[in-house]
Amino acid sequence: MTTIQQVSADTPADELKTLAERAGRDLEDASALEILTWAAGTFGARFCVTSSMEDAVVAHLASRARPGVDVVFLDTGYHFPETIGTRDAVEAVMDVNVLTLTPVQSVAEQDAEHGPRLHDRDPDLCCALRKVKPLEDGLTPYLAWATGLRRDESPTRAHTPVVGWDDRRRKVKVSPIARWTQDDVDAYVAEHGVLTNPLLMDGYGSVGCAPCTRRLLDGEDARAGRWAGRAKTECGLHG
Ligand code: SF4
Repeated sequence: MTTIQQVSADTPADELKTLAERAGRDLEDASALEILTWAAGTFGARFCVTSSMEDAVVAHLASRARPGVDVVFLDTGYHFPETIGTRDAVEAVMDVNVLTLTPVQSVAEQDAEHGPRLHDRDPDLCCALRKVKPLEDGLTPYLAWATGLRRDESPTRAHTPVVGWDDRRRKVKVSPIARWTQDDVDAYVAEHGVLTNPLLMDGYGSVGCAPCTRRLLDGEDARAGRWAGRAKTECGLHG
């Protein structure tokens, strides 16, 4: 377990980067709750969790480390109603502060400027406008953010550190369940009665925007239903 050294808004980025890299090494074998306890103690109110509302596992863990922790949700305007319902339920029953970020343009405004169904024609641009930019803006007040990335989800996530440096945003990125498997997630959900998106019980392995998400076919890995039929595997939030 690494020591907790509180930082402030004035802490230089190179110090934060050194801190993140050391914590990534020191906390590699720590539990998810220990990792989040370190993050909450180090960054205080300048630490948040991001959630796609696929499930509330990381939000639940973080609320144990820091009751009332900020949970940031990106409302792209393209979510399934079940995802918005999960967000509302998390807000209602958990000891967290849900913050909903929205893109600059509504879907109608984006359609007027770029034409309809941009997600079909240029999903990278659509994700940049509706996910990447709003998250960048929304993370401005924070020094560190937590994600639910897991190494077993896809080859692109296989080397995710439990704590690392997000060079693009110049922030510490915490992935407390990076070492978990789907069985670990299922066990935590069952043990703590954690809210999950109902679509996970309806054939979806991973839940994103409705136009870019489909149910899994037999034998597919959990993220195969995202941008199916395209080379795209990530929205750009974690690149
Ligand atoms: Fe657009 Fe699809 Fe990306 Fe959502 S996942 S922002 S609909 S391209």
